[in-house]
Amino acid sequence: MEDPGVATEADTSPPSDDEPSSSSVDLFDHDRHVVYLQMMYQMLPYHYQTQEINRLTLAYFAISGLHLLGAVDSVDKEQVVSWVLSFQTRPRNKAQLEDGQFYGFHGSRTSQFSLDDNGVSTHNSSHLASTYCALAILKIVGFDMLNIDTESILTSMRNLQQHDGSFMPIHSGAEMDLRFVYCAAAICFILEDWSGMDMEKAKDYILNCQSYDGGFGLVPGSESHGGATYCAVASLRLMGFIEDDLLSKGALSSIIDVPLLLDWILQRQAADGGFQGRTNKASDTCYAFWIGAVLKILGGHKFIDNKSLCRFLLTCQSEYGGFSKYPRELPDLYHSYYGYTAFSLSEVPGLNPLCAELGIPELAALGM
Ligand SMILES: [Zn+2]
Repeated sequence: MEDPGVATEADTSPPSDDEPSSSSVDLFDHDRHVVYLQMMYQMLPYHYQTQEINRLTLAYFAISGLHLLGAVDSVDKEQVVSWVLSFQTRPRNKAQLEDGQFYGFHGSRTSQFSLDDNGVSTHNSSHLASTYCALAILKIVGFDMLNIDTESILTSMRNLQQHDGSFMPIHSGAEMDLRFVYCAAAICFILEDWSGMDMEKAKDYILNCQSYDGGFGLVPGSESHGGATYCAVASLRLMGFIEDDLLSKGALSSIIDVPLLLDWILQRQAADGGFQGRTNKASDTCYAFWIGAVLKILGGHKFIDNKSLCRFLLTCQSEYGGFSKYPRELPDLYHSYYGYTAFSLSEVPGLNPLCAELGIPELAALGM
């Protein structure tokens, strides 16, 4: 039987410092990952019941993952488009856009109630993350965004931005932090219209989140975190406040402290080759994306130990396809997707290039 590249019972010892005898990238089990994602696309295992509210997000992982693996043609694109559009909430009229609600996309059917006698949803749970995922999927399957009711989304999205520049994800209120600034920036970028946010305020909020150690916290004054740092840097890049490939251009003067950020980022690669999200935490597959994508945007991905990273990721690769959070555990869709994005950032053959700041394949981001 072909070696799937995953560690077995007899192979639980820590990897040696020697380079693997064959290239780690050869053990990326492309075909098995395609089958895994196709299975997830057809029907999710019951373990995902508790994540029903995030149905669009799970679909984004599966469909974007298939595109990265060069297999997006295995999904019925028209069916996907009509399914995604069925989650959009629309106001009854223009005046309603000022009612403080957000008219974006629901995450799933369970947050979507039937319309009242006036054809209006009485329980609007449109969410910024679901809206980002909906638009990302539509972009990936080549849907023409001119057919989207852009005005409803963008005009009402301004209702979610706070005085300090942050965003709450849903009109009824929730945490306000960098995650939703990123979602708002990505939504504006995909729709090619920045009327949905006050960019200057958003920029100021992001800059306030850079910590003394160079990383970014989710809110001003909080501990530096890989996911928050991605949201900060990717948002600034999408908004055009920082150039791409800053490090290669030697342009270290920027609105953010790039040398301090680079110092924090590069210290996140642990001795086992993987990336941790915060100081003193265990390596976790998804941070190979959250941290790796920041380096890609800055032009510093070449500074990491790529072979060690791939070797760590392969200890998280399942023999059934997919990736787990930690080595030798069962795979999940979230960590699988970020495993694929990490291998794409490492330019492993067989994977399409990734648009790091948008989190979708580059070809899809370019509308190709
Ligand atoms: Zn993780």
